[in-house]
Amino acid sequence: MVNFNSIKELIELAKERNTSIGKITMEYEQEHSFDSEEHMLKSMQNNWRVMQESIERGINNKDKSLSGLTGGDAIKIYNHRDESYTGKTVMTAAASAVGVSEVNAVMGRIVACPTAGSCGIVPAAIRTAAEKNHNSEEEILDALFTAAGIGLVIEANASIAGAYGGCQAECGTAAGMAAAAMVQLGGGTPDQVGHAVALAIKNLLGLACDPVAGLVEVPCVKRNGFVAVHSMVAADMALAGVESVIPVDEVIDAMDRIGRSLPRTVKETAEGGLALTATGKAISKRVFG
Ligand code: SF4
Repeated sequence: MVNFNSIKELIELAKERNTSIGKITMEYEQEHSFDSEEHMLKSMQNNWRVMQESIERGINNKDKSLSGLTGGDAIKIYNHRDESYTGKTVMTAAASAVGVSEVNAVMGRIVACPTAGSCGIVPAAIRTAAEKNHNSEEEILDALFTAAGIGLVIEANASIAGAYGGCQAECGTAAGMAAAAMVQLGGGTPDQVGHAVALAIKNLLGLACDPVAGLVEVPCVKRNGFVAVHSMVAADMALAGVESVIPVDEVIDAMDRIGRSLPRTVKETAEGGLALTATGKAISKRVFG
């Protein structure tokens, strides 16, 4: 029976069995959901298909959301990628993540991974890395299961909800999952996966959840683009051999403690931060009267 309560345990299991974190996660899921390997792989294949469709729709989207706050930015970023300071790969990831998030804002079909608010980060990171590395579908599915294993532990030991732990819990978790998947796609070790998760989350600790008018649009949509890039840097650092001084499970504990101590005004209540700016309040009044 496969069991793990921390990322350290997940890493140790992968090392003991000389396999990936993704394979351990799949085994865990199989044993706990009594699902067949074939069906689980099919489900994940379907998730990956939906993720890719949402990226395609997003980077071609010119429609505004009902509120008029978001829409049409992903295509601008995508079209700018050849002249960008940061380069084609980074801008493609940013455009893809913003695009998926724009699809979410117009009630389109996305995979909430781990949540709808952070839905662009993991797909954008995986697709960008897989295109660069020419990964096979089997490797992509393994990377998705790797991300899922990380998300499982964070959900159990901290939170993945902005309403509970601030945006660090939502976009922070997505960053950790995306960084883990990219290390996996880049041929990194289970230890490097752990360091990438720690590095990605550490740099987002304390991030407020302060959506304007309570809509998952501002700052959420563009934040998905920033965080996708952020997770790529964490993955690259880990693949380069950089280690997190604070072990990954302690980083998750810190995230949980910070989440509990954040004021409720920055936990998706739209009663603080950007939501309370003069412009934020004016938007809220315009949208809701
Ligand atoms: S700011 Fe809040 S609603 Fe927006 S993505 Fe972050 S956690 Fe989700």
